[in-house]
Amino acid sequence: MKKLETNCLHGGYEPKNGEPRQIPIYQTITFRYTSSDEMGAIFDLKSPGYIYTRLQNPTNDIVAARIAALEGGCAAMLTSSGQAANFLALFNIACAGDHIVASSAIYGGTYNLLNVTMRRMGIDVTFVDPDAPEDELAAAFKPNTKAMFAESLSNPSLVVLDIEKFARVAHAHGVPLIVDNTFPTPVNCRPIEWGADIVTHSTSKYMDGHACAIGGAIVDSGNFDWEAHGDKFACLTEPDETYHGVRYTKDFGKAAYITKATVQLMRDLGPIPSPQNAFYLNLGLETLHVRMPRHCENALAVARFLEGHKKVAWINYPGLESSKYYSLAKKYMPAGTSGVLSFGVSGGREAATRFMDSLKLVSIETHVADSRTCVLHPASTTHRQLSDEQLVAAGVSPDLVRLSVGIENVQDIIDDLAQALEKS
Ligand SMILES: *Cc1c(COP(=O)(O)O)cnc(C)c1O
Repeated sequence: MKKLETNCLHGGYEPKNGEPRQIPIYQTITFRYTSSDEMGAIFDLKSPGYIYTRLQNPTNDIVAARIAALEGGCAAMLTSSGQAANFLALFNIACAGDHIVASSAIYGGTYNLLNVTMRRMGIDVTFVDPDAPEDELAAAFKPNTKAMFAESLSNPSLVVLDIEKFARVAHAHGVPLIVDNTFPTPVNCRPIEWGADIVTHSTSKYMDGHACAIGGAIVDSGNFDWEAHGDKFACLTEPDETYHGVRYTKDFGKAAYITKATVQLMRDLGPIPSPQNAFYLNLGLETLHVRMPRHCENALAVARFLEGHKKVAWINYPGLESSKYYSLAKKYMPAGTSGVLSFGVSGGREAATRFMDSLKLVSIETHVADSRTCVLHPASTTHRQLSDEQLVAAGVSPDLVRLSVGIENVQDIIDDLAQALEKS
């Protein structure tokens, strides 16, 4: 098996003699066949092949295979956004009347998806404190629980997940652990190696890395035994009448989960990325292993600068020895966590606003994990739909400033922060 750096450049694509070196963009909606029977067999999932890009496209499949290789998974699919990835990952195994256990320290958009939109669809959720002991986590499970969900490194609270603990609890209750691995990326953390069954991504972040194309991905480890828990996952083990009785686990083995998500959910819901966007994502993947260490190196230097600064009330970076999550970070993300850190400006909300408005190089953006340094105030933007109580549960205090350290010269970043802090 090739190593991660090599997979960033070669995973999922081996051109034959005379074929394009860079991955081709199949900018097409459909594919031509010479007989209806041939196409019919593909429609029945009896033979593989491309019929319509909403279901599958060769460019998208190359990039998905590359991400699967990076995560050590057996199959993957791209989605049009990270939101679509998390929704499909959960909805593929949970429907009306079911229940999900989720970490409370997750991205605001995902919190809303679970707490509002999926509840409206009849899917119940119980949020748990990711730092809670195992018996407390176990108490959240119900007979109709279908999945456990968490972020490996939460956005923006930067909680490092004890993945092994979550995997143990999920498996003890016969359900898969789904981990959103957006922030560390597989360069810094590989959740499948610690027991996660399914990994999701907002590829809009470091994977793309250039603030270029919104996207998402779902990777299946192939390790969860759906048939051993067939009572819970009949949707995967029992016949699907819309495909003449196909049984995903029997007919597709380890690819069951991704195949179902592709042929059912993409067919019916359709959040597929354009092949052009998959191509952009692939350019980002090619340098991911070079960019991530620089993000971490710069962020650590910025964190050390902020930690000693008189205008900084507190700082949260799991790479600092003072962080509550330092030892978990060393275990699960030994090469570094990410370029994202958060801190409070002394003087609270108003001082934080003055600080942000004084920045010159660092820009205010609703984005994170970009090659360029950017900053955001979650309580008034991404998390504004949450009550103060929910903000605290999500680990986001009202004075929290989220700083996403880019790969510019680190002294230039520090100089800009220093002059802005003086004006705060
Ligand atoms: C941004 C983000 C999402 C949502 O992804 P989009 O691509 O913006 O839809 C989901 N999870 C995490 C951890 C994120 O940071």
